[in-house]
Amino acid sequence: MKVNTYLKTFRKKKRRRFLPDLKKSEYPALTFDEAQFLRPNLIDKLSDLVDRHNITIICYGLRTDFQSKLFPGAKRLMELADDIEQIKTICWCGKRAHFNARIMNSQIITDGDQLQLGSNKSYVSLCRKHYKLKQLKD
Ligand SMILES: [Zn+2]
Repeated sequence: MKVNTYLKTFRKKKRRRFLPDLKKSEYPALTFDEAQFLRPNLIDKLSDLVDRHNITIICYGLRTDFQSKLFPGAKRLMELADDIEQIKTICWCGKRAHFNARIMNSQIITDGDQLQLGSNKSYVSLCRKHYKLKQLKD
């Protein structure tokens, strides 16, 4: 069974069945994309897999939401991760972009639910200064 297939299966199962099945697997590593959406208690369980079963877990995701608040899953990941690597994203001004602004009708919005279905075109990466100024490239 390929990992992608396994993860699709995982999504259909209840979480408590996931871990016993995984212990029996022969996967040396698992990756999770959009890991900011994982529940904090699942992050704890994933760290158990690392410690008890020597499975490498690699998670990709955002640190903060459009209001510059940590996602609960990202917070727990940062608390438990052995290593954290930041992928460099650049603001339109050339500085490192650590903030994800939500865009609607070409304007930065700061109100709304943390989770919103949408495309990547609904967000833009900005440096802190331009995030605070709500300033997009002209
Ligand atoms: Zn900037």
